[in-house]
Amino acid sequence: MASLLGNLFILAAPSGAGKSSLIKALMEKYEGNANTPMQVSVSHTTRQPRPGEVDGVHYHFVTREQFEALIEQGVFFEYAEVFGNYYGTSRVTIEQTLYRGIDVFLDIDWQGARQVTKLMPDTCGIFILPPSLDVLEQRLNHRGQDSDEVIASRMAKAVDEMSHFNEFGHIIINDDFATALNELEAIVTAQRLRSAKQQIRHQPLFDSLLGTA
Ligand code: 5GP
Repeated sequence: MASLLGNLFILAAPSGAGKSSLIKALMEKYEGNANTPMQVSVSHTTRQPRPGEVDGVHYHFVTREQFEALIEQGVFFEYAEVFGNYYGTSRVTIEQTLYRGIDVFLDIDWQGARQVTKLMPDTCGIFILPPSLDVLEQRLNHRGQDSDEVIASRMAKAVDEMSHFNEFGHIIINDDFATALNELEAIVTAQRLRSAKQQIRHQPLFDSLLGTA
């Protein structure tokens, strides 16, 4: 695993903290930039698609039976049950993408983050927090895709998710979106510049600088 050129990032947050918008903005900003190839992992889930969600783009939507068969086959790098549904990350996709030198972003919960960090200790974990509970509730209400009951249940679960923030190496408080995006970029850049990765990426340069080619 140490020779994987790409960097693995985990972004975790309570629902409504703005995680999806931050990831989307980051991907748009770096789209087509050959020096910083990056992509978001598409998870499998047993939950129903929300309006506008596309199979294979937002998630691979599968039945519980299909998901359990995939668990048996050892397909998942990590998986967890969140809000009564299974969610999981495909092992092969992650590993192949990292081998190709592409940074991978996992939008997963704290349970998945624990599993991934155990398997790949150099994973960069980032937790995104809202500036207050009031703001979090407003954001969940503005989403307009879930019932009041679902929103109330997610508020309760948000507190549970947030209680794990200190298991992550980096914390971003998403009050002002542009600031939060800058902070996310700074973390990504620092992670990419770690010596171990630079040594793999720029081996020819080091050889020529030191005359060891
Ligand atoms: P949602 O249903 O709102 O899209 O996602 C609910 C929660 O499941 C979010 O916290 C999201 O990060 C998490 N999640 C999405 N995909 C995965 C995955 O592959 N593994 C794990 N462990 N959590 C996931």
